[in-house]
Amino acid sequence: MDRAGSGCVVGPEGRVNGALGPLHAPDHAPDRAPAGRAVAQTVDVPPTPIASVYVHAPFCARRCFYCDFAVEVRRGGDPTEWASAISTELALRQDRGVVLADRLRTLYVGGGTPSLLGPEAMRCLADVLGPRRLSGSGIEWTAEANPESLTPEVARGWRLAGVNRLSLGVQSFQAGPLRWMGRLHGADGAVRAVETARLAGFEEISVDLIFALPGTVPRSWSEDLDRAIELDVPHVSLYGLTAEPGTGLGRGVAAGRVRMADDERYREDFLEAHTRLSEAGYRHYEVSNFARPGSESRHNVAYWDRSAYLGLGNGAHSFVSPIRWWNVHGWTDYRARLARGEDPTDETERLDRGGDRLEAIWTGLRADRGLPLDAWAEPARDTAAGWARRGLATIDDGHVRLTAEGWLLLDSLALEFDAAAG
Ligand code: SF4
Repeated sequence: MDRAGSGCVVGPEGRVNGALGPLHAPDHAPDRAPAGRAVAQTVDVPPTPIASVYVHAPFCARRCFYCDFAVEVRRGGDPTEWASAISTELALRQDRGVVLADRLRTLYVGGGTPSLLGPEAMRCLADVLGPRRLSGSGIEWTAEANPESLTPEVARGWRLAGVNRLSLGVQSFQAGPLRWMGRLHGADGAVRAVETARLAGFEEISVDLIFALPGTVPRSWSEDLDRAIELDVPHVSLYGLTAEPGTGLGRGVAAGRVRMADDERYREDFLEAHTRLSEAGYRHYEVSNFARPGSESRHNVAYWDRSAYLGLGNGAHSFVSPIRWWNVHGWTDYRARLARGEDPTDETERLDRGGDRLEAIWTGLRADRGLPLDAWAEPARDTAAGWARRGLATIDDGHVRLTAEGWLLLDSLALEFDAAAG
């Protein structure tokens, strides 16, 4: 990798550069177990070397209709301003005992819209994290991009910087639903973005699709699945639409102007995706994710394995067992705190034994590697056997694995197993 002349002058001193601006919440912070966490308090982070890092890029050119992330709406991003803030937080974390591994295994840059930060952004970030740390041949470095801002220059610049996996915010290949969602790309935007990514040398490409849109939105879910399969991208992530308070969608639902898809429609869309993508050779390796063999997201697997990870940026979450912490939501607040030399942590929690156990159950059940049964008491094993009889799970090699039908009930099944475990 040639990083000479990146023009990125960032570092802890960068806190004095650039204007302060507002916010976001991480698109790809791991979901949380349904219950069982403990009290917020200030705690020391165990000195475990952390090999997975999430970096948040909070800027978006427009807010989508359904999005409740604390997004900073901007026409463009300033990579130096962004990287300077990240650099300042990293220095602060390291001063307080966080240890980064000499070589990272995974780096995930999510948003927001990282591609709004332009071609130099990833080179700036590499300078912050230390090129040596990113130089291992085995690193998986993912960056998210939206089709309208993934220009050939951005794709080439990122590839040169070392990014080797792109996650594209596609959501649909059809003009009607894209307009309804408030997305900035049109019907052919995603196809062009995949071509742009491939021309720049990316092979590992993931597309995000949203399902369970209201019945009034003119969208064929089957067609969108077919288009994703035709594109032959190695990874697909699915998100079920939810109406969050405070969003345009949430207000529309509250006022009776929009009627969300019902549970049956949600179920049908999810199961159709499972069937079609599985038949096309994708492995449904986690409740929301499908991959060709070998193209699973190693970063997400680190979340589900409960490996240590560091989240940098506003709203980013971190976990070093048994401690979890997350940063303040707003970009303005985040930057202001860093400029004052303050810790941008919003809250910290220490998982107690019960919370730790529930999380292990939940993360085990959400991935197709399953939950090993031999460590659990008989009532819990009986519970799993009951799921198998109802078609919600399979039991094989001493592991219980949820079926697609079972994944629709993931949270309640995790709680049921936890209760049975005593
Ligand atoms: S692009 Fe993503 S993060 Fe930005 S407003 Fe839309 S949904 Fe939210």
